Amino acid sequence: PLSLTDMVKTQRICVCVRKRPLNKLEETRKDIDVISIPGNGSLLVHEPKHKVDLTKYLENQAFQFDYSFDETTTNEVVYRFTAKPLVYAAFEGSMATCFAYGQTGSGKTHTMGGDFRGKNQNSSTGIYYFAAREVFSLLSHRTYSHLNLSPYVSFFEIYNSKVFDLLNDKAKLRVLEDERQQMQVVGLEEVFVSEVEDVIKLIELGSACRTSGQTSANANSSRSHAVLQIALRCNDRASTLYSKFSLVDLAGNERGQDVNSNDRNTLNETAEINTSLLALKECIRSLGQNKDHIPFRMSTLTRVLRDSFIGEKSKTCMIAMVSPSMASCDYTINTLRYADRVK
Ligand code: ADP
Ligand code: MG
Repeated sequence: PLSLTDMVKTQRICVCVRKRPLNKLEETRKDIDVISIPGNGSLLVHEPKHKVDLTKYLENQAFQFDYSFDETTTNEVVYRFTAKPLVYAAFEGSMATCFAYGQTGSGKTHTMGGDFRGKNQNSSTGIYYFAAREVFSLLSHRTYSHLNLSPYVSFFEIYNSKVFDLLNDKAKLRVLEDERQQMQVVGLEEVFVSEVEDVIKLIELGSACRTSGQTSANANSSRSHAVLQIALRCNDRASTLYSKFSLVDLAGNERGQDVNSNDRNTLNETAEINTSLLALKECIRSLGQNKDHIPFRMSTLTRVLRDSFIGEKSKTCMIAMVSPSMASCDYTINTLRYADRVK
């Protein structure tokens, strides 16, 4: 197990891949698993035993990441290697952000623990829960208790470049840059929490709001980014921000899927998602290369997260989710290439 100091010392940008198991439908369809994870962070998209031509992918079939998690890995283990070091970093005063990236159905929400509808999913099984539990345990830990910090939760959605507050009936919010070049989501609800159950209740409330809101054009959560933030504030008069920890369940990255659609809204959505995911990639890359110019103004997603993942003490982790199935191979390769470019 990682020690406390290991946690804090981990690298600034961590990129991982998680493969989910074949699901029932894929199994009945006799879909083939084309992903192998031999160990040490490597991942192979391989030729199945059956005669299927994968030569168009051959140039890029081997990938290397910080960690590659296979289909037997639990959410708790994924948490331990991805978000957990970020929680510790947040207690050391770092801004920390963890992204779940991948095509719709690849396991982003499953990994975060934001699905409260599925039979096999309950609130205590995802990164949201494990992170919240860790926050409360560290608040009372002797190393950090003297800091006198309080946790606050906000939860919002970015859809078509607009920000909607999931803890306030999807109120539409503006993003402003203040005189100190800090980004502000004006009017964003920030709720004080005193135990893990408070956090879970808020996530449940927000998740329900995310999928059911009839007033919004967005009926489909896969077309929006969901951002859960836990802010640690000092118990002083001004409630000074000490650090912020963000967990981002990104919109599905299946670009091109809607090219045959004549629906203007759908085309627009797809373009917006592509822009924001491209912006995110460029920002993380620039950070990794210690560039001076970070193109965060390219999208609402990167503008809103600017203060969280830009700045000397920030830490970022991306978990790219992939389906194992031959049928999703194109999307999988896209996802792996994206993650590969982020490193
Ligand atoms: P996404 O949010 O990326 O669209 P979901 O998280 O909703 O995808 O996952 C789609 C389905 O696959 C869900 O039913 C989910 O429970 C299941 N699933 C995803 N990842 C895993 C996994 N690692 N193990 C078991 N089931 C998974
Ligand atoms: Mg989802």
